[in-house]
Amino acid sequence: MDTNRQGWFSGGEADCGPEAPLPSRPARLVLLGPPGVGKGTQAKLLCQSLRACHLSTGDLLRSAKCDGASSPAMKQALAAMQRGELISDELVIDMVRERTQCLSCLGGFLLDGFPRTVRQAKALEEILFELDVELDAALSFELPLEQIVSRLGGRRTCARCQAVYHMSSHPPLAADVCDLCQGPLVQRDDDRPESIRVRMQVYERETEPLVDYYRQHGKLRRVSAAGDPQEILRRTLKQLGERRRTAARSARTSYLQSP
Ligand code: AMP
Repeated sequence: MDTNRQGWFSGGEADCGPEAPLPSRPARLVLLGPPGVGKGTQAKLLCQSLRACHLSTGDLLRSAKCDGASSPAMKQALAAMQRGELISDELVIDMVRERTQCLSCLGGFLLDGFPRTVRQAKALEEILFELDVELDAALSFELPLEQIVSRLGGRRTCARCQAVYHMSSHPPLAADVCDLCQGPLVQRDDDRPESIRVRMQVYERETEPLVDYYRQHGKLRRVSAAGDPQEILRRTLKQLGERRRTAARSARTSYLQSP
């Protein structure tokens, strides 16, 4: 959706700016996948295609860092983030709870980077239940490890607007300068080799169990993240189309079977 994500970045009643036309049926998705699999790029493409809002907890934390995080809890969280570790479940769940208006928004949402642990997934389930909102699917993007490491090493992020580039597959027009806002491009602290290693281990330990969690809940959709972004997008939309058709079929069946 064409919003400035103010509601997500500021929380509370913040206004998201110009009203975008709402989709006829909001998409509500969780994106899963190891760091470097291309989730962020897919999130942006999916948002344009489904007109849903991109809700990334990583972006939220990085913007808190740029604003000069004030509370001791946030400073501790940012230090953990820099080491490639996860921040505490309590803090991240509180952050999402402060933004429930984004989860009930009629534009729909794509949650990127949350949940990351089974505890966070359970908290999300509770929040959505309270809001009477149903999750459509959890998309799990999958790619072999060696391709992931190469993608992460070349990634550069705009310190101002968070746009993402890759030194070989999507370089900026001028070296180290963002095409969109002319902000400086930086390598994220957690994209350095020592942090990448930690993040992969953390992903395997904490987040991979979520694939099983969503499979057991009948929400999982696996997508191969190989190939160029448009190809992956087409694959993803196909998966979602199938899921929506199945959901519509089972809703029709239970309606016809009801007394
Ligand atoms: P991302 O941009 O999603 O890769 O997130 C960057 C970093 O932010 C992660 O390596 C964590 O340190 C922190 N982070 C983001 N989301 C979460 C979360 N849901 N739970 C814990 N830590 C998170």
